[in-house]
Formats: sequence, C-alpha cells, structure tokens
Amino acid sequence: MKTYLPRIALLARCLPLVALCSLGLSACRDGVDTIVAGDYVVTMDESLGVIEDGAVVVDNGEIVAVGPAKDIYRDYQSTHVIPGDGRVVMPGLINGHTHTAMTLFRGIADDTELMTWLQNTIFPLEAEFVTPEFIAVGAELACYEMISSGTTTFVDMYFYPEVIAQVVDSCGLRAILAAPMIDYPSPGFEGWQDSHAAGVAFVRQWQGKNDRITPALAPHAPYTVAPQHLQEVGDSARELKAPISIHLAETYTELEQISEQEGIPPIAHALNRLGNVRVIGAHAVFAQPDEFPLMASAQFGAIHNPTSNAKLASGIAPVTDMLAAGVAVGLGTDGAASNNDLNMFEEIKLAALIHKLRDNSPTALPAATALSLATRSGAKAIGLEDRIGQLAPGMAADLIQLSINETRSLPVHDIESHLVYTADARDLINSMVAGKLVFHNGEVLTIDEKQLRRRVAQVTESIQQALED
Ligand SMILES: [Zn+2]
Repeated sequence: MKTYLPRIALLARCLPLVALCSLGLSACRDGVDTIVAGDYVVTMDESLGVIEDGAVVVDNGEIVAVGPAKDIYRDYQSTHVIPGDGRVVMPGLINGHTHTAMTLFRGIADDTELMTWLQNTIFPLEAEFVTPEFIAVGAELACYEMISSGTTTFVDMYFYPEVIAQVVDSCGLRAILAAPMIDYPSPGFEGWQDSHAAGVAFVRQWQGKNDRITPALAPHAPYTVAPQHLQEVGDSARELKAPISIHLAETYTELEQISEQEGIPPIAHALNRLGNVRVIGAHAVFAQPDEFPLMASAQFGAIHNPTSNAKLASGIAPVTDMLAAGVAVGLGTDGAASNNDLNMFEEIKLAALIHKLRDNSPTALPAATALSLATRSGAKAIGLEDRIGQLAPGMAADLIQLSINETRSLPVHDIESHLVYTADARDLINSMVAGKLVFHNGEVLTIDEKQLRRRVAQVTESIQQALED
C-alpha cells in the first residue's frame, strides 16, 4: 500500500483554496492546474497499463503526464493536489447510447413488450408531455445521475437537442447530442422533412461552439426511416462533418422486416444507405456474422445496451464475436424508461456476466475487456478515441477517482476485477471533465440539486395526473 505522501498533498488537503482551484480560476495557478493521485491509476492505455501509487497531471483541461506518484511530485507542482490514498483513478465512463429526458418516465411501464411499450405508453406520453421545459428538467436529472455515477461522456438522442445542449453546456459533461429524425409525427415535427431540416440546423448552430459538445444527426431506425431518407441524412452528415447515431438491429422483428424489404440485414442496409460517415449504432443485438467485416471496416461503432436488451427481452448482442472480428464496441444504458437508471457500473458488470452465459464460458469478456467497453473501446465506438477513454498525455482530462477503501468491498486483490465485479457508483469521490471537477466528495458541483428536485416533482405530478385521467 501507499506510504509516500508528499508535503504538498498534505498542504493542499488543508487549504480551502483547493475547491476554488478545482473550478479553474486562473488566480490559483501555480505550476500545473491539478494533480490527481491514486493507489492505482488504471490508464486503459496499452503501454502505461495499471500504475500502482500513481498520479495524473492535469493542465489546461488536458492530461500532461501520467506516472508513478514519486516521479510526478518530483517533476510537477500544483496548489491543487487530490490525494490518492485508498483510491483508484481511471478514465471517466462513456455512455454510448441514452435518451436523457426519459429519466422522467423512469419506471412508468415496466415488464411490457417493446412495441407495446413504445406504442401504448411511450409515444403517447411523449406526444403529450415533451416540451422544451420537460426536456430541460429531464436532461438535467439525467446529467445529475450520470455525474454522480462516474459517467463523463454520453451520446444522446432525444427531442429538443438545443435545450439538452444548454444543460450540458452548464453541467460540464461531454456529449455527442444527436437530433432525432423520423418519418412519422413526433414532438415538434410532422415527419421526415421538418425533423431532418431541424437536425441540420441544430448541428450548424452548435458545431464549434463548445469543445465538450459534438452535435450529431439521429435517424431513429431503419424501420422508421425510409431508405432514401437514410441516404439523405448520410449526405447531410458528410456535408456537415457530423456523426450519426441510430438504433440498429434491436429486435428479431426488425431483422426479419428489413431483410425481407431490402434483401440485406439492417446494419448492412443502414451503412450502405448512410455511406461513408461516422455511425454510432445502438443495440446491434441481431448483427449478423456476414455484416461484421463491413462493421469493422466502416467508421462504425456498435453500442451494447445489456440492461435495456435484457429488460425488453430483445436478446444478447454478439459482443465477443464482434470484438473478435475487429468491430469497435461501446456500452450504453439506453433511456431510463427501459433500464431504469443511467448507472454505467451496472452495464459494465452485466456485460461481463451475460456474455459468459451467452458463450457458455467463464473466460468470455474478461474484466479488462468489460472495462474497456466503457472507456477505451467505447471511445473508439463513438469516434472520440483521440480525446477520451484513456489516461495518457494529450488526452482530455476526463477522469474519475473512486474509493477502494470501503469496508463492504475490502480487500482489493486485483484492481480491474474490483472495478468490474465489486465497485459501484457509491464509491465515486471525484469526477473531472476537461480538467474541471463536476463531482467532489459526494456532491454534484454543477447542478442545483434542490431546484432540480422541485422541478422534477412538478413534472412528475402532471404525468401522474394524466395517467389517472
Ligand atoms: Zn435507444
């Protein structure tokens, strides 16, 4: 265990100045912005690996050095040192697929079949309740939950993305925000034409505005968007240099329907029609082996949503086969209405477990691979591998620090096993995005919790009234 504790760390712990520095005030600058230490630094970088008694140096929102703490303290100085005793530092978690404001529909219609759930409950509720105010409250609730469970980046697909972008701008998370497009009437739109036009306008409005926000386009799915419309959105994405987020091969019904209509399965169909663009494909439960080479060679990432797929009994995505074929695979929660939370630690553990069952092998999807789905591999799946998913010099300073010193989860023999099978969101101590703390000692720093609770209560009351009527 760690015995070396430099004087500067002791000093920093005592200074009220620390919290101010963490918010990035330039007056506090002395050397580098922040040093974050840990008994272990799980870098997810191939050459750096796991560093015992390590530290990460953060300056100007980026990681400038990662190494043994004694070397870091010798080479760098900071007025803001986050001590590492009994703690692990790792990359912030990446939620590759969610629908943020659906938090407000949490638990509203559980234990129902997907199409019944969508058509009888979710679509009518969305038609009645989804307004910019609803989105602002639901997205903030989602961000609060994600921040307090170690997620630092998410990929969203929901209505009024311009409202979600404002929430993300102020709460400090990193996100790819995709504007939904669908051939049918949806909140605010009559159909394809106007939803497509609004999506393009949203990307233009938010591109280059905030380093943490990547605006994107989200054609809903191959069974709700006509082939020529997929082609159209592919053209728009290429012109705008924006990524696409889409549901693909979620159910067997979709596989049958698209294969019959198009002569090829849904993922190949969508990738052919969308063309050469970055595509983040959620679910891929029914990805076919003959699609794997295309998925591996395209700018494509498959997002595995184990809880949502299990809850809706959609099936188990062939994650180990896709990985073996070289497909980039990430992990997501899906919306809170089909999960019912946005806790990535649960997804990591469930992924590690269900693929052992699927493959009938306890060696399938080992802990290090499960961890990678939510970090390094997840970053590749969403096209941000140059910025996030690893703790290495030049990467964005998106990291989390967890306690590994809670009595309920002692001892720690293997840190990667611990993070996958034992750790959970309760262990989170600090979370940082682009070098700024968003979570510190049990508190979300960037969202007014009391006010959020008041707003959630108001919306909940109106939903419950509507359900009783
Ligand atoms: Zn979804």
